[in-house]
Amino acid sequence: MFTAIAITFVIVLVGLIFYGYGIVMKRSPTEEELKTEKCSICRRRFPLAELVEREVGDYKLLYFCGECIASLVDEAKKRHGISDGMSHTPIPYASEKHESM
Ligand SMILES: [Zn+2]
Repeated sequence: MFTAIAITFVIVLVGLIFYGYGIVMKRSPTEEELKTEKCSICRRRFPLAELVEREVGDYKLLYFCGECIASLVDEAKKRHGISDGMSHTPIPYASEKHESM
């Protein structure tokens, strides 16, 4: 009778240890793994919230980071500018250089 209780207790204890160990082992990497993805271009890991995802074909998901998107936009603008025959002129904000009389 007593041994049955003891065995049950040990089983529960071992189960709890494994359960706790599993949480400790799983939690941080899994959560990190779920929340981050590699950028398809620069292969750096970013939080999923910072990445833009695009479905390519039927199943493949590609992620792009802001930096790579910016460079793509820049390249697209340049190409567009070349094909259009006009260069993109940056809008001059408040004139930085002081024009003295
Ligand atoms: Zn990138």
